[in-house]
Amino acid sequence: MSRQITSLLAIAAVCVTLAPAPAFAQAPKKEPVDCEQVKCIALTFDDGPGQYAGTLLDTLKKYDAKATFFLEGQYVKSRPAYVKRMAAEGHELGNHSYSHPDFTKSEAGTIKSEIQKTQDAVKKASGVEPKLLRPPYGLADLQVSDIAAQYGMPMILWTAGSQDWSTKNVEAIKKKTLEVAQPNGIILMHDWVKQTVDAMPAIIKTLENKGYHLVTVSDVVKQQDLQPGDIFPVPAGWEK
Ligand SMILES: [Zn+2]
Repeated sequence: MSRQITSLLAIAAVCVTLAPAPAFAQAPKKEPVDCEQVKCIALTFDDGPGQYAGTLLDTLKKYDAKATFFLEGQYVKSRPAYVKRMAAEGHELGNHSYSHPDFTKSEAGTIKSEIQKTQDAVKKASGVEPKLLRPPYGLADLQVSDIAAQYGMPMILWTAGSQDWSTKNVEAIKKKTLEVAQPNGIILMHDWVKQTVDAMPAIIKTLENKGYHLVTVSDVVKQQDLQPGDIFPVPAGWEK
């Protein structure tokens, strides 16, 4: 192709771009989802990136689904490429400590260093700093809440678990996840459980057929107006 024709094509392309969008144009794909208007659910994957994270990311991409990964710093350090890919593909990254100690049995200094080291590792791997904390085992107390507040992070638990770590069975994980799915639900799963990753195509297809938008935790909790140190959903017996 001659240089002249190429530049004419380039001008034509610019003109097409500048022309007003025809009435039948489809809405842009990346329009933000409003979970007060549509049915949303947030799938969350803890303790990773796990060894099957790559396959999981392929599945999420195929179905245009978003997820939230509550990452463990030590694995961020050993598998940084997955973390980079998670951020690049629009998933949310959360902090799940560095080595998974029970924060309610830890000294303040330990909790802070567990959080900080993970923030640093995620930032280094992906350029993104987590804005949500999920304390290991979902266990928190007022000390943990105060420290989360210092880091500017609310604490996110889950509305239901897939029990994947206990059943380790594709059919059981699929059945449980679909059973506990609810609008604005936050579902606990693990990307180190191979059967979870194997069950994902069927789970996502079924949820999407039921009208769910698979979104991030931040999308789902937007209407909660969570403040740093808040915990959501509020566990039984929690007082502040
Ligand atoms: Zn965990």
